[in-house]
Amino acid sequence: MKDVYKETLPVCDICKKEDAIYDAPYAHGPWAFQCSGCMTDHVPTSIGFKLVKGEEPVMSDTDRIAGIHEAMNKWDMDTLMELVGDGDITEYI
Ligand SMILES: [Zn+2]
Repeated sequence: MKDVYKETLPVCDICKKEDAIYDAPYAHGPWAFQCSGCMTDHVPTSIGFKLVKGEEPVMSDTDRIAGIHEAMNKWDMDTLMELVGDGDITEYI
């Protein structure tokens, strides 16, 4: 489940009380913002996003380059594209 960073967390669509920490399909309907309590009713946990309050941590160039090289060695194109982002892959190899 991929982390999504938000300045403020939305309120849970199910109980309307707690801060939601997931944006994922709900067992009894479409996608919903869900708190940890309401998430137990939800089917596959691999689908959706985990909501994290705050700013996304900035990855250092050293970590990014190491990650890119590892992804290339494993032919892991999804990770590779995520690490390169809008950048130019030739800057990292
Ligand atoms: Zn809830």
